[in-house]
Amino acid sequence: MIAVWFSCGAASAAALKLTIEEYGAENVRAINQPIAEEHKDNRRFCREVAEWCGVEIELYNASKYPSGSCVDVWNHRKAMSFPKGAPCTRHLKIEARQEWEAINSPEWHVMGYTVEEKARHESFVKLERQNLLPILIDAGMTKSDCGDMVRSAGIDLPAIYGLGYPNANCIGCVKATSPTYWNLVRETFPDVFQQRAEQSRRLGVRLARVKGQRIFLDELDPSAKGRPLWTMPPCGLFCEEYTATKGEAA
Ligand code: SF4
Repeated sequence: MIAVWFSCGAASAAALKLTIEEYGAENVRAINQPIAEEHKDNRRFCREVAEWCGVEIELYNASKYPSGSCVDVWNHRKAMSFPKGAPCTRHLKIEARQEWEAINSPEWHVMGYTVEEKARHESFVKLERQNLLPILIDAGMTKSDCGDMVRSAGIDLPAIYGLGYPNANCIGCVKATSPTYWNLVRETFPDVFQQRAEQSRRLGVRLARVKGQRIFLDELDPSAKGRPLWTMPPCGLFCEEYTATKGEAA
């Protein structure tokens, strides 16, 4: 059985389609972890991709956080971001995936790694999972190819892409430090920006980085620019951004 981890991004949609074409729907299970802070259009995309691929996309949240809410995780952990990752990734993505694996014992995994992400794929295989199939890499698929494939099936990409975001992560993703990203959140979702600014100030978390210095969101100049958004990775399922646990609160 091949577990395809569908993130509501274009690449994982293309990966699911290609996996089913190559191995047959009977050998594939598709799983998505719905996160409360994602754009609501991600749910529409999930339904349409399931119909396109002819499979059910199972929804699975970690038993400890059935709400699938990052805000709940941050409040419970009294933290939003650690030097190598975020507690929401740990609890809502990685632990949920591990729970699902313990119950269902998949023999193989598929994620939406494109040819641009070959190094990340190889790193995962080396450090985390040897049974990861390079579906998109073997097919020579770029991120742009994946978007084209989905659109040519008549499916609109998640609305979040149309607003300038590089992936279908949560709105106001706490892994981001770029002023460019946070000012885009401020512009497109001012209420979310305010929520993140308030919660991060309350928890003492400096989410943005300017000239190498971490600052609070409420200190961020609205005209500040930083790293280009395409460098921001999608939310990981395989501990890529969260390898250090030393120093974090229990
Ligand atoms: S997308 Fe960002 S905010 Fe959402 S779970 Fe992943 S790391 Fe957390």
